[in-house]
Amino acid sequence: MLGQMMDDALTITSLMKFAARVFPDTEIVSVTGDNPRHRSTFGEAFTRVHQLANALAKLGCAPGDRIATLAWNDYRHFELYYGISSSGYVCHTINPRLFPEQISYIANHAEDQWVFVDPVFVPMLEQLQDALTTVRGYVILTSKAAMPETTLKNVRCYEELIEGESENFDWPELDENSACSLCYTSGTTGNPKGVLYSHRSTVLHSLGTNSKATLGLAPDETIMPVVPMFHVNAWGCVYGAAMAGTKLVFPGPKMGDGETLAALINEESVTFAMGVPTVWLALLNYLQESGSKVETLQRLVVGGAACPRSLMEAMDTYGVAMHVGWGMTEMSPLGTYNTLLPWMNDLPEQEKLDYRLKAGRLIYGVEMRIASEDGKELPWDGKTPGRLQVRGPWVCKSYYKLDQSDAHLPDGWFDTGDVATIDQYGFMQITDRTKDVIKSGGEWISSIDVENAAMGHEDVAEAAVIGVPHPKWTERPLLIVVKRPGSDPQKNDLLAYLDGKIAKWWIPEDCVFVDEIPHTATGKMSKKDLRDMFNDYSY
Ligand code: AMP
Repeated sequence: MLGQMMDDALTITSLMKFAARVFPDTEIVSVTGDNPRHRSTFGEAFTRVHQLANALAKLGCAPGDRIATLAWNDYRHFELYYGISSSGYVCHTINPRLFPEQISYIANHAEDQWVFVDPVFVPMLEQLQDALTTVRGYVILTSKAAMPETTLKNVRCYEELIEGESENFDWPELDENSACSLCYTSGTTGNPKGVLYSHRSTVLHSLGTNSKATLGLAPDETIMPVVPMFHVNAWGCVYGAAMAGTKLVFPGPKMGDGETLAALINEESVTFAMGVPTVWLALLNYLQESGSKVETLQRLVVGGAACPRSLMEAMDTYGVAMHVGWGMTEMSPLGTYNTLLPWMNDLPEQEKLDYRLKAGRLIYGVEMRIASEDGKELPWDGKTPGRLQVRGPWVCKSYYKLDQSDAHLPDGWFDTGDVATIDQYGFMQITDRTKDVIKSGGEWISSIDVENAAMGHEDVAEAAVIGVPHPKWTERPLLIVVKRPGSDPQKNDLLAYLDGKIAKWWIPEDCVFVDEIPHTATGKMSKKDLRDMFNDYSY
């Protein structure tokens, strides 16, 4: 027997209409390239979203078209999130920190039609534009007065584009399973892969993560997403904030600047912020050096990489509770979140910290298991590590334009590439990674691409790259080289050789020489053995 309830679609359009009606006065504060402190409200932003939708239609966008953004966190990017998706197009957020060839690969693979770009990334796009085979034109995210000189073809100014457009728009009735946004991840082997979110998955993720057991956003909170909007939709909080009427503070290009972050927190009464450990280390350094305080800030979510113990302890002294979250691009992203069980609050401080540093417990909506190499499910005993696998309505079913088998195990679960233990209380802890990638400052470095670049040097017989701990970036690549017989390359020459072949921030700080790189039985480099060999190495 079927239930007899209405089956209204779960869409970003409905979320926008809700927030415009219920929370029109909720503020959105942004740092942008053309304004150090721009102020607007949900009401104003959603009015402009209507104008944007009319402008997009006039640009000739058709249902399902991918519209790209190359932009920092601010109100215009917020408008694009809602305007593109609610019109029935796909908001494709591109990571501007990628190497230009990766950006053109991603834009071509996605068949992007238009690119909305912050002025600061215009010079890079000018170099790239001939390689972008599907792009019809560019819209620069700025005012007429701040429009840069550019050689970009078919270029518009965002403010001029939407100015004068009607504030009414007849939003299409969308299927909740239709695509709303697209984000490529380099956290896998081979070319970056696209994760295509649906309206339904996005709304469910927001509902799931907005519960009090997790992010618990509310109208009396102010949230500052320091996680980029090009990285898994800023962990979903741009939607969650609209659902809960939470004031948004966007730091624009000032993400890693401790002084700006502290000023925004204090001047805008930020209570809650989200970001990777590297940005919280920057904030902490600034607080320690300047003697400043962040009195309104109650909670920080830290994710994307493990939280250093010393960081959590130091933030405690400022009265800021750090909560670890875990997830990934393929999971929209949140899967687990760390809030203690009531009895854990009475534990001695260091034991309590042991729990707080774990990746947390499941959020309703996601299932997880740990499995052995041969696929057997392992116990939740806090000791046995296994391959961490997940499933749920906001977990990726298949990558964009790839077969389901590329993302899925035969029984329908998704293997995260993380290795973890889960204890008897359901607290998960990441212990290792099976995927061959390095996470530095919250963004991925492909060890394979760095290895291939190094192997191009005539004196290199074999090259391997592993991630080693780093106090600021959490992890940095280390280049390990076997010299070609009869040659004697110097480490600085090898590192200099990589310049221009890979993104600057991918170049390892150090190179070490070994006689032999360990291999597995199938002839692959054994990264696990290499990591064991360099266990004591740290930057
Ligand atoms: P991304 O898809 O770029 O968001 O990266 C997801 C990956 O980041 C995960 O699969 C983990 O390898 C890593 N990660 C995310 N959160 C944590 C965490 N709390 N602790 C350790 N690693 C994490």
